Amino acid sequence: MIDVAIVGAGFTGLAAAFELARGGFKVAVLEKDPEPGGLAGSFSIGGQRLEKFYHHWFTSDEHIINLIRRLGREQDIAWHATNTGMYYANRIFRLSRPRDVLAFTPLSFTNRLRLGYMALAARRVRNWQELESLTAREWLLQLCGKEVYRVVWEPLLVGKFGEYAEEVSAVWLWNKLKLRGGSRGRAGQEMLAYYKGGFSALASQIVDDVIAHDSEIRLNAAACAVSSAEGKVTGVATANGFLPARAVLVTLPLPLAANLLAQTGINEYGASLKRIRYLANVCIVLELNRSLSSMYWLNVNDPSFPFVGVIEHTNFEPAGTYGGRHIVYLSKYLPSSAELYQMTDDGAVRVGVDALKRMFPDFRGDVVTNAHVWRAEYAQPVVERNYNRLIPSFETPVQNLFLSSMAQIYPEDRGTNYAVRNGIEAAKIIAAKLHKPALKELTTIA
Ligand SMILES: Cc1cc2nc3c(=O)[nH]c(=O)nc-3n(C[C@H](O)[C@H](O)[C@H](O)COP(=O)(O)OP(=O)(O)OC[C@H]3O[C@@H](n4cnc5c(N)ncnc54)[C@H](O)[C@@H]3O)c2cc1C
Repeated sequence: MIDVAIVGAGFTGLAAAFELARGGFKVAVLEKDPEPGGLAGSFSIGGQRLEKFYHHWFTSDEHIINLIRRLGREQDIAWHATNTGMYYANRIFRLSRPRDVLAFTPLSFTNRLRLGYMALAARRVRNWQELESLTAREWLLQLCGKEVYRVVWEPLLVGKFGEYAEEVSAVWLWNKLKLRGGSRGRAGQEMLAYYKGGFSALASQIVDDVIAHDSEIRLNAAACAVSSAEGKVTGVATANGFLPARAVLVTLPLPLAANLLAQTGINEYGASLKRIRYLANVCIVLELNRSLSSMYWLNVNDPSFPFVGVIEHTNFEPAGTYGGRHIVYLSKYLPSSAELYQMTDDGAVRVGVDALKRMFPDFRGDVVTNAHVWRAEYAQPVVERNYNRLIPSFETPVQNLFLSSMAQIYPEDRGTNYAVRNGIEAAKIIAAKLHKPALKELTTIA
């Protein structure tokens, strides 16, 4: 019998498998997709792997950097100076440096100072619990007033959370300000990291490490149900048979986890998995034969636009990596029932190209040489006021059945760094519960 069955080979499941396998436990990871990586998964572009959804790391992403160090691959992390801007009232404003804020003419000079002050105010918050009962809107109105809220923050919150915008927690916004504003090099410039070969190279290296430690990753192997007997987990049912295990770690989005655990009869806990709402995401990835602009990250502060972010990936990782192709992501968070999510790929690409023509008058559709559309149903938990009370526990009522899911990351927001942190923490707790010496005795007996 294996020691731990892990459901899901996203970065949470991979990190947990890495830690447990290195700790001498026999692990099997079950992944429904043909490749590992989950939301940070990739596809091929010009013979190179590229994330389906734009991905980067911040300077504070210590947990994933530490895992890369343990793999002996720190040299593969590439730090790049990047820039951020905002599209507002048919113009693009750079908003990367303090002096850009001072030059942001849509706001009065006093309000520019108030906007600049926000970054400092966010860094000064020591105790995030103070913000728990506030919405982002309430906190922002207190800190920077109506005009800054209307011009800068409201369109971003509506763009990201749609109908839930006014419910979003101040804690969520505080974290975003801290992370992005704090990701700077010595000279104060914005710095973000990418990985040689993309995030899929890292996922593959973790897989190789797990396999080298006598464990396995099964791809195209969806878990159908987790089973238990007498209050104790017994294993996982798959289309190819039953996988008995001493412990099971589920790393899926909560609604999928609820389905998987239904047979274990943990009704109250099952209900706790249905309290958090999610938004989906659709990303249109355009390959262009010329660059769109000099901006890496462009927030779209115009609710009439169908996308909230225009991310020119090749202003981060050079176009040379992709055979000279310039790569642009158009991102939209939305309910999975929304028209754009349900649309055909061709239709979605048309919407994207039309939006770019409005935004960049020189942009012509014939610079697009190829396009890809990716959708994720559970892309972003809605982090609402008093979110802490909604988070289900890591330990379930079934003995040796554990849950580590993106929606449990708090007060931080989802991200591969925290997926790795939580995966490793999960592994340590499971290892302690399974008592490694007992494992050695068991294998000797077997
Ligand atoms: C648009 C977008 C942009 C992002 N940008 C960044 C970024 O810049 N930087 C960053 O660090 N993070 C970013 N993230 C977040 C990051 O991708 C996630 O936080 C992280 O990948 C979550 O990992 P996970 O393992 O917890 O979950 P997931 O990645 O969701 O993994 C769950 C896995 O379970 C599998 N699965 C589902 N059902 C079953 C089943 N029945 N049986 C077996 N397997 C199953 C899925 O296929 C998946 O592989 C972004 C996310 C999105 C959507």
